[in-house]
Amino acid sequence: MKHALRKYIAPCGSALFMVVSTMAALVVLVTAMYMSVVSSGRVQIASFNQEQAYVASTSIADNLKGYLNNGVSAAMQSKLLDLNVGDKMSTNGNDFASLVEGGTREDSELGAYTVTITRLKDEKQGDSTMAIYDVAVTASTNGVVETTHLYLMTQKETTTPPSMITRFFTATGYIPNDVVVGDGVYTSEMYFDSEYTVFSDIKGESNSDLTLKGSIICAGSAVFSRGKTTVQCQDTQAWYIGKNLTFKNTQPTSIDLKGKGGNANDIKNEPEHGLIVVGGDLTMTTLNWPNIGNNGKFTDVYVLGDAYIAKTNFHGNLYVNGDVYFMSGDDNKVEGYLYLNGECKNYTGVSNGHFSNTKIVKWSGWTATGDCQRAPAKTPADVGKLLTSKIGGSTYLKWQIDMSGFIMEDENTPKKENITFYNGNEDVANNKYVHYINKDCVIGEIKSKGNHVSSLAIVIDTGNKGDTRTIQLSNNDGSEFSWCPSTVEHARMNIVTIGDGTLVVDVPEGVRYQSTHQEFFGHIGWYYLLGGKVTTTDAGTHDYFDRSGLQYVNKSYIEGVLKETIHETYFDGSKNSCTTCKYTETTVDGKTVYKCTNPDHYDTYSTKPETCVCAGYVDTGSVTAYAASHGIDMTYEGKSQMPNVNIWVESCSESADIQFGVGSDGKGLQNNLFFGYVYAPYMTYVDLSCGENTGGGVRMVGGLIVSDYVISGYYEFIYARPSMSVDSIGITTGDPLRPTGSREWRHYGV
Ligand SMILES: [Zn+2]
Ligand SMILES: [Zn+2]
Repeated sequence: MKHALRKYIAPCGSALFMVVSTMAALVVLVTAMYMSVVSSGRVQIASFNQEQAYVASTSIADNLKGYLNNGVSAAMQSKLLDLNVGDKMSTNGNDFASLVEGGTREDSELGAYTVTITRLKDEKQGDSTMAIYDVAVTASTNGVVETTHLYLMTQKETTTPPSMITRFFTATGYIPNDVVVGDGVYTSEMYFDSEYTVFSDIKGESNSDLTLKGSIICAGSAVFSRGKTTVQCQDTQAWYIGKNLTFKNTQPTSIDLKGKGGNANDIKNEPEHGLIVVGGDLTMTTLNWPNIGNNGKFTDVYVLGDAYIAKTNFHGNLYVNGDVYFMSGDDNKVEGYLYLNGECKNYTGVSNGHFSNTKIVKWSGWTATGDCQRAPAKTPADVGKLLTSKIGGSTYLKWQIDMSGFIMEDENTPKKENITFYNGNEDVANNKYVHYINKDCVIGEIKSKGNHVSSLAIVIDTGNKGDTRTIQLSNNDGSEFSWCPSTVEHARMNIVTIGDGTLVVDVPEGVRYQSTHQEFFGHIGWYYLLGGKVTTTDAGTHDYFDRSGLQYVNKSYIEGVLKETIHETYFDGSKNSCTTCKYTETTVDGKTVYKCTNPDHYDTYSTKPETCVCAGYVDTGSVTAYAASHGIDMTYEGKSQMPNVNIWVESCSESADIQFGVGSDGKGLQNNLFFGYVYAPYMTYVDLSCGENTGGGVRMVGGLIVSDYVISGYYEFIYARPSMSVDSIGITTGDPLRPTGSREWRHYGV
């Protein structure tokens, strides 16, 4: 009978309406059978009762499935979708209140029952990732207990790509490598979706200081194991670490994420604190009397696992969901409160570990009338949600290249644009130093002989705002592409865009993109602002890019220009403090959103930002003012040129090879400047110092979206945003790409 009924309840794992209608029929059926069985004798009743527990169990599971599918249970659905793999959600006996509003605790005709839903590991169904749940229903009727399992499967919510153009560094983690950060100064948020992010010395490199000035988001674990490391924030920052945060060396000695206040009674209304959130364990045993935060300027630390500490001053509140282990007998101190769910313990072999002057209270069990007057700012569950929202989605899309504008040689082969400069001393009258491109094309060979001038230029017209110029590259220097290949004999290359559109540079499979020393690749507006000139030479006969005044080496000069023209970008010194951004309500696609009143600042926000969130925009007003006060002519062939970072060098190949920071000889590149983005979700970005202690400057202005990094930041990376939303350029329309390795380590995020 079990199987007969089962078949009747859920034919073919049917859809919603089928389930509901069969349930209605089932109630009638069971009632009828109950009547008939009651009249047929004692043995049969016992047998039926066992069936009844089974039937109750399966029908509750089906009922739940139907409820989830009926389209009005969004809260319940999101509860399930918010479960992490391995997490459980359970009823309290018959109480469906946590699952279904209006549930009761009363036993019903079905008997007493308990439901436990466990999120299992995701499954791949074709191209979709399905979330899988085990619904275990235990029913008890007349002393017979039956448990059945129903497997629920649902397509995971469609995830949009993470907000990858809101920072300089994004690691997709699509190839399972560690991110390795060596030395350098890092001013923009770092987002690393890799299992391990390691701040360590890089073998064979000079490895000087590492200075961290921005926020850090690591979906996996972060490990610090290098020499001189300084945390030097200009404004309140946060570190979000999805798994463990481990310090293996004595550095840094201070982690002050620049809280604005501390030590008040009501921490919920305190000025903003710095924030360190650790999804796993915090291990800071090798640090030597480190200060977290500063006196009265709190940096709060949240640890969802255990905390292993020795000699640590926490200037802020410390929250530990597990235990605190003392790794030495030395003193530790928490200036705020220690909210602890576990216990304080001496680690094996340690005695006398202790806190001094520290108020220790229960984190989860805190009550207003209890231990202290200060409610914890967040519960452990809040902290988990915060990690999930900060780590966010992990879907990156295949770039959709629009090749419809290419001139074709035959059906499958686009015609190549070959570029020949003339730079000889013999026939100067026929020389050519500038090549102009205003069509979509494949770049073929680039060549020049002679040394009459030292600077050549390729000018790429991107058209008007909203236009896209698409260029595909081909190998023109052995097995790589270079804007300045060995077939160019002498000069340095300037690749400048003009106009307000976007340049997409597609690097196809099998092509290595190789940047060269002292190459300038960016909008002509930057070229002008940095002292480059477009002039004529040879007695006024030839256009010529005179870069004798171009400041491509001088870091402080470049920073000075960018600080004046890019909104709220951080540098070594002080930061511009925004007083101009105001956010007002507006309606986009029928939704109420908030938008900055500065027309250059195009992003919208679902809640009103309290402080400036417009960092990275190129402020056109500031550019105009800067150019005017420095006597810079911003026009090219009579047309005003506003700088932007709308250049995207992209490859979605798993063997993508785009090199701005290292040459084909494995050595660092010198003084090449790029204003734009690299989008290569499967590529390791390598940047090495040039091995000489001369120069050092800015490497890139824009952002990097790559799988992982090995960076020794001899050069600086500065965040800037394109002048319009990326929705129009093919990065947000393609099919999802798939990570090549396991992502099971990823606990928080969507
Ligand atoms: Zn703004
Ligand atoms: Zn602002």
